[in-house]
Amino acid sequence: MDKVLQGQIAIVTGGSSGIGTGVSRALAAAGATVVVNHSRPSSKESAEKVLADIEAQGGSGMIYQCDVGQEDQVIDMFKEVITRYGTVDILVNNAGLQRDAPFTEMTLEQWNEVISINLTGQFLCAREAIKEFLRRGPQPEKSKALGKIICMSSVHELIPWAGHANYAASKGGIKLLMQSIAQEFAKDKIRVNSIAPGAIKTPINKEAWDTPEAEAKLLTLIPYDRVGVVDDIGNAAVWLASDASDYVIGTTLFVDGGMTLYEDFADNG
Ligand code: NAD
Repeated sequence: MDKVLQGQIAIVTGGSSGIGTGVSRALAAAGATVVVNHSRPSSKESAEKVLADIEAQGGSGMIYQCDVGQEDQVIDMFKEVITRYGTVDILVNNAGLQRDAPFTEMTLEQWNEVISINLTGQFLCAREAIKEFLRRGPQPEKSKALGKIICMSSVHELIPWAGHANYAASKGGIKLLMQSIAQEFAKDKIRVNSIAPGAIKTPINKEAWDTPEAEAKLLTLIPYDRVGVVDDIGNAAVWLASDASDYVIGTTLFVDGGMTLYEDFADNG
């Protein structure tokens, strides 16, 4: 892969699993130094494995434990990364989870946990990243933009999802959070965009693809007839973080095998 992100410092939240590992590896292969964020002591080993993979490919980075829903921890993470590397150039707001329940049985705890991590976490990290981009100023030798933020959304910023109201609300929130920040800071040459994955094989949705029957059912939703893999998202993240997408601002890039084309309508003409 071309080193289109050479010399840039990237933070990937939730980098220790699933899509976060694919994005971390892809950014590192493109030359970025990657901070692999993980949420708790139990995910340290997975984060270390991602960093070891990056180093084995000739890349570099560090791991950092932080719950993105906790303001003090997010501020400390940015302080630590800036102390160590001098700045941050790319933030991938990837951390997220599901706490599913039929709506009338959904507890306030389930609601608050999903909103806190999926939405408030993206707000807190984006705020600290933008403060740093503005403090540091332009580095034209590294990138045309002052800084880049990629928000991990979902096809469920568009497609309603019964039984997952908290998750869909968090992703719908990310859509307008992303667009509002993009609008506010485009004049400063900060580029904020989202990736909306469709179905990607990761631990978050394992029950939807880990048996042939489940995968066949899932494929009925995907015109391209294949379930996504984390590298599909990693490749998109490299493009959105690089100067190749310099004129792309406030956009959601759907990486979904056509899921948002509503395949059912193809047979109803
Ligand atoms: P995953 O469960 O494999 O990874 C989620 C990551 O988020 C883990 O590394 C986890 O440790 C981290 N995380 C959870 N709570 C955290 C916290 N408080 N602080 C920091 N990190 C925390 O799932 P995934 O599929 O890789 O999901 C990554 C992102 O992609 C999520 O935002 C998810 O909503 C989104 N997404 C996934 C799919 C899919 O099909 N897999 C589809 C659409 C969107």
